[in-house]
This record gives sequence, structure tokens and C-alpha cells, in this order.
Amino acid sequence: MSETPTWEWLEGYPALDLANTVIRRGWTELELIHTPADLDSWLNAAALPAPRPPTVDEADVAAFLNLRDPSLRLLRAAVGRESWETHDVEQLTETIASAPEIEALGTEPGTTELRPIGSPSPFTLLLSRLAREVRDVLTSQDRLAFCDAPGCGQLFFRHRPNQSWCGPACGNRARVSRHHKTP
Ligand SMILES: [Zn+2]
Repeated sequence: MSETPTWEWLEGYPALDLANTVIRRGWTELELIHTPADLDSWLNAAALPAPRPPTVDEADVAAFLNLRDPSLRLLRAAVGRESWETHDVEQLTETIASAPEIEALGTEPGTTELRPIGSPSPFTLLLSRLAREVRDVLTSQDRLAFCDAPGCGQLFFRHRPNQSWCGPACGNRARVSRHHKTP
């Protein structure tokens, strides 16, 4: 599959946008980040907690997947779809530790601002902050859910306690798929 993804399903939350780079076509899972061009298009579309670097290369794709894979497994584990593995936790922590920051007093009265210790590259800083976003969702977000519809399989935040699907289109597709399933 070489078409450029549209990313129109991204939720506007950094941790979810990171995880939702694997989608379903029908019931089959599809990896969307293969090349620097894929990563570049995602960086333009996703909610990012730090500025994106102007260009990305193969090493950046590898570093991205090195964070995305454990993040996806942990977020899915949090909604009961995967098992919670210690090595995923360690990998997330390593990425957090790759660009530590201090909470400095901000230049405006009454504000603070995050400042990296040392001079991490922009992409290292971005991945580190994304890892912290994932940590925060895993520790303080009880609306996280998984949309188990064909053509979706996305993580999302529920707006209502009993919400099963990320949107009405997914609910309809899931009902149609069930209806047509051979017994
Ligand atoms: Zn959905």
C-alpha cells in the first residue's frame, strides 16, 4: 500500500494521534508509517506537544516506531485488548528520559514553561513529550476506549459512559457487518 494516508480520523490528542497510525482496512490491521514521507505527512496532521523538525529520515522513522509500538500496546492494554508488558513500560520510560525537562518560571507573571535540560534534537524532544502524553493518558484518563468496528480499530476518548463506537459511522458499519456475517 503506497498511497499517502489522509489522517482525517486523527483525534487531535497527541497520545491518540500517535497510536492511531495503525488502522483497520476491513478487519485487517494496516501499518501507515513505513517511510520518512509517511512520517512527514503524519507530523503535518497530528496534534504535537512540541514543534516538528523540518525534515525526517529513516532513523527518525525507526525512533518513532520504537515509541509508537510500546505506546500502542500499553494503550490497548489499558482498554483490555493486549497484555500489559513490563518491557513496554521500560521502553516508554526510556523515551521520556531521552529529553528531561525542568518546569521553569515563565517570562509572563504567574506562568511556568517547560525547558529541556541540555540540547536534545527537536525530534528527540518531540518523542519524549509524546511519551509523557501517553503516560498521562495511561494514568489519568478514564474515557479511553477502543472502537471495534471494521475499517476503524482506533483508540478514542468516550463522550458518554456507554459509548461503544468512536462515531455514528463506525456503529453503522459494525451493525451492517454483523448483519452480513454468515452464521
Ligand atoms: Zn471507529
